[in-house]
Amino acid sequence: MFDELRDLYQEVIFDHNRSPRNFRTMDDANRRVDGFNPLCGDKVTLFLKIDDHVIQDASFQGSGCAISTASVSLMTEIIKGKSEAEATTLFQQFHEMTTGKTENIDLQAIGKLAVLAGVREYPARVKCATLAWHTLDAALKNQQDAVSTE
Ligand code: ZN
Repeated sequence: MFDELRDLYQEVIFDHNRSPRNFRTMDDANRRVDGFNPLCGDKVTLFLKIDDHVIQDASFQGSGCAISTASVSLMTEIIKGKSEAEATTLFQQFHEMTTGKTENIDLQAIGKLAVLAGVREYPARVKCATLAWHTLDAALKNQQDAVSTE
């Protein structure tokens, strides 16, 4: 990866960590799932408002490292307005990207999330990046139990 690109990616992660998007509780959410990554101590509570199989609103609360915060912030931004099926596809793509199976990835669809591709070089950080998405997956399946990456 070119250094310039790497700098840009880091800038996006720093920005989302410094000022996370959709960082709030949601009173009218119809999905709420807690996620925990014991390896790093990242905690997230994801709120979704799903109407007619479309994610009308997404927000989160919690605390964690820069990667986990940036990941959930980017995720809430990108899934808003997506159908449940589109969000499930994004989850699969994100999972493949961060675990190194890049050949099936639709870069157009994944967009800004590509900034997190670099975590696959750091196996200990992969769970920081995927915590948000495993929590989303549980919320989409309407599971109420807390999600743990371990
Ligand atoms: Zn972490």
